[in-house]
Amino acid sequence: MPVNLANFDFDLIVIGAGYGGFDAAKHAAEHGLKVAIVESHEMGGTCVNRGCVPSKALLAASGKVRELANAEHLSGFGIHAAPVRFERQKIAEHAKNLVSAIRNNLTKTLERSGVTILRGRGRLDGPQRIGLREMSGIDRVLTCKDVILATGSDPFVPPGIQIDGRTVFTSDEAVNLEWLPRWIAVVGSGYIGLEFADIYTALGCEVTMIEALDRVMPTFDPDITKLALRHLIDGRDIDARSGLLASKVKPGCPVLIELSDATTREVVEELEVDAVLVATGRVPTSQGLNLDSVDVDLTRGFVPIDDSMRVLVKGKPIPNLWAVGDITGKLMLAHAAAAQGTIAVDNILGKNRTIDYRSIPAATFTHPEISSVGLSELEAKELASKEGFEIGSVRSYFKANSKALAELDSDGLMKLLFRKDSGEVLGAHIYGLHAADLIQEVANAIARRQNVVELSHEVHTHPTLSEVVEVAYKQASKQLN
Ligand SMILES: Cc1cc2nc3c(=O)[nH]c(=O)nc-3n(C[C@H](O)[C@H](O)[C@H](O)COP(=O)(O)OP(=O)(O)OC[C@H]3O[C@@H](n4cnc5c(N)ncnc54)[C@H](O)[C@@H]3O)c2cc1C
Repeated sequence: MPVNLANFDFDLIVIGAGYGGFDAAKHAAEHGLKVAIVESHEMGGTCVNRGCVPSKALLAASGKVRELANAEHLSGFGIHAAPVRFERQKIAEHAKNLVSAIRNNLTKTLERSGVTILRGRGRLDGPQRIGLREMSGIDRVLTCKDVILATGSDPFVPPGIQIDGRTVFTSDEAVNLEWLPRWIAVVGSGYIGLEFADIYTALGCEVTMIEALDRVMPTFDPDITKLALRHLIDGRDIDARSGLLASKVKPGCPVLIELSDATTREVVEELEVDAVLVATGRVPTSQGLNLDSVDVDLTRGFVPIDDSMRVLVKGKPIPNLWAVGDITGKLMLAHAAAAQGTIAVDNILGKNRTIDYRSIPAATFTHPEISSVGLSELEAKELASKEGFEIGSVRSYFKANSKALAELDSDGLMKLLFRKDSGEVLGAHIYGLHAADLIQEVANAIARRQNVVELSHEVHTHPTLSEVVEVAYKQASKQLN
């Protein structure tokens, strides 16, 4: 039964202090709401403690090792460096120190904004009520006008794979870089598998990559994948295998892997490696939230929401309950979680806001990077046949870019998809130097639903990589019907 308005303990309680919960709580407090945030582990969630932050710190350090060890590349500049030496422990400490600095900043920011931080496990206790199991074991119930669920996700470990955290582990442990196996199998070729393969090969490990689907990097644009595979996989100490399941993985020394054909399930090979990183996706952390108390039916564990972040029951939004971030299974990315958090709060504040997923970019921070925004070519084709328009597609190559050539790093491609009738940008896919930064310009254009003609008139700094995007817009504008 809804609680009397005057007696609420808080205006808003957010469960989960990851990137989504953090942005929601801060935004709400800054707009005058009385806010509490509940966190059962470390403040900052996956991104800060086990995700974006430590992985990018490791990629930064290992990327420098890769660059300094690449004698052929350096000799192109007339540079001859001494053999590169690195300390694994110091690289691991760099990541650890960054995590703790960012976690402290985030916690202080919340405190300064006036958010009450509650340590313990949160759950729903019916509409507008939160159950809190504190670290001490004490259980109490708090009332609030609105609740935002932001409990994130955890690594998915397929059946048959045993994790010991030391020889067989997920990204949760990999970010600690506790040791460098001579030979490591990476199960999964999504962005997490690719980033860790980048780190391990830069630091001298041999990698076997195992992908269940019929091609490596199955979630990336096929043309981008072709080029990326040549450099990120074939050009490195990586043996990539597709159509295979790691059906059994037994920790130890060595680790035993049984590989099965992904279609027939027949065992085809056994491998003995030093370590296995399981990077097979993530599952929502929705168990224990007592969602039954408000009749929410989960979809494969994800909390169903509408584009305003309202939680749905039987397809209809219910009052005062919101969900943001990985638990919603939309775009499982930190900046998407943060955007959802802000939008949920704006709606609580009475502004009518919805999210535009099409304009949210994604990046893989390999060397070089991969990025994308908007529709894939397949999605664009489906939309085109539904709405009756023709798709345009152009490619802009880094080989024609002065800055990339000056860097002796010109293997790169941008593919731009647009409507041939109106010129509206539908999507972009980039592989090449600083692709993660380049994609933002296209993301902004998609957010404004801009067309390639107006975009082709925008002047870009010379010489910069952004001219790759400019060339794509110019080529596209010539193709309009
Ligand atoms: C290795 C790796 C690298 C990544 N790199 C990137 C990247 O470069 N860029 C990017 O955008 N994204 C990246 N991500 C994804 C990103 O980390 C997530 O999308 C993001 O953290 C999701 O934020 P969230 O707020 O939804 O959940 P989370 O960050 O998972 O936070 C949820 C929080 O809720 C807490 N919690 C759970 N249940 C309860 C409960 N019952 N009571 C109280 N607290 C609870 C958890 O302890 C956790 O702190 C990466 C992920 C991984 C694993």
